[in-house]
Amino acid sequence: MNINTISKTKEILRKYDIKAKKRFGQNFLIDDNILSNIVNVANLSSNDLIIEIGPGLGNLTEYLLQTDSYCLLIEIDKNMIDILNDRFELKKEKYTLINNDVLELNLDEIVEDLEKKLNKKFEKVKVVANLPYYITTPIIFKLLQDSKKINDIIVMVQKEVAERMVAKNNTKDYGILTLMIEYMGIGKIEFIVDKNSFIPAPDVTSAVISIHKQKRFNVCDEKLLFNLIHLSFANRRKKMINSLQMNNFNNMTKKELENVFTALKIDFNVRAEQLPLESYIKIIEYIKTEHL
Ligand code: SAM
Repeated sequence: MNINTISKTKEILRKYDIKAKKRFGQNFLIDDNILSNIVNVANLSSNDLIIEIGPGLGNLTEYLLQTDSYCLLIEIDKNMIDILNDRFELKKEKYTLINNDVLELNLDEIVEDLEKKLNKKFEKVKVVANLPYYITTPIIFKLLQDSKKINDIIVMVQKEVAERMVAKNNTKDYGILTLMIEYMGIGKIEFIVDKNSFIPAPDVTSAVISIHKQKRFNVCDEKLLFNLIHLSFANRRKKMINSLQMNNFNNMTKKELENVFTALKIDFNVRAEQLPLESYIKIIEYIKTEHL
C-alpha cells in the first residue's frame, strides 16, 4: 500500500476549504505507519464488521477499506459526509455511512439491520477508531455496557485515559473505567502515539488501546454492579460506604450497608479505589442472596 496521508489531508482541506473543528475533537491522523499499525492490531477478516466512529476526512477509513471487512462509518459532522462519499466513491459497496452522534444510536439495532440488508451474519463486530477525545469515556462505556454485539474495541485515546484503563488498585488512576474494563474483558495499551502524528496536533500524547470483550464472571444483576461501581466512585475522596449512602445506592440505609460490609469482612474505612473487582461482585451477590 502506498498512501501519502499527509499530502492527501492537506489536499482535502484545501479543496473543500475546511478547517478542523475543535468542538468535534477533530485531530486528523496523518502518520501512515500508525494508521497501518492500527489495522494490524485489529486483525481483521472478511466476516468482521468494522464500526468506525468519527471517520472525519477518511484517513483511517482509507486503510480499513483496503481490508476485506465491511465498514459502518458514523460521523457527526455533516461537512464530512460529501468528502467521504467523494473520496470512497469506488468503494461504495463496502461501507455504510451514518451522519449522526454515535451516543444517540442503538448500535446493536444498526448491526442487525445491516445484517439483514447485506444478507450476512458477521462473525465479529470490531470498533476501530481514532476517537474524539471530548467524549472518550461515554463512548467506551456505551461500547462496553450497551452494545452486546461488539466483540473488540481498538481505539486511539489520550494516554491518560489509556493508563486509567489498565491501572492497578490503590493508585489514583484506578477507577470506574478500570473496573468496567476488567469486568467486561481484557484491556491492553498497544502503543503510544506522538502529538505530531496529527493535524492539528492535540495538546496531549495519545495511545492505541485494545479491549477484547470476554466475561470471566457471572454476575446475577449486572445493572446493580455497574451502579455500585459508579456510585462508589461518585465521591472518590470519601469512604466508599459514605459515598454509597450519599448517593442512595439501592435505597439502602447506612446500617444495611454496614451489615453487608461486616458480613463480607470489608473495612468500613475503605475507599473505592482500594477494593478489587472481586469485592464489588461479592457485594452484589450478597445483596441479592439476602434480598436487600
Ligand atoms: N478518523 C479520523 C482520523 O483518524 O483522521 C478523524 C478522527 S477525529 C480525532 C474524531 C472524529 O470524530 C471527527 O471526525 C469528529 O467529527 C467525529 N466526532 C466527534 N464527535 C462525534 C460523535 N458524537 N459521533 C460521531 N462522530 C463524532
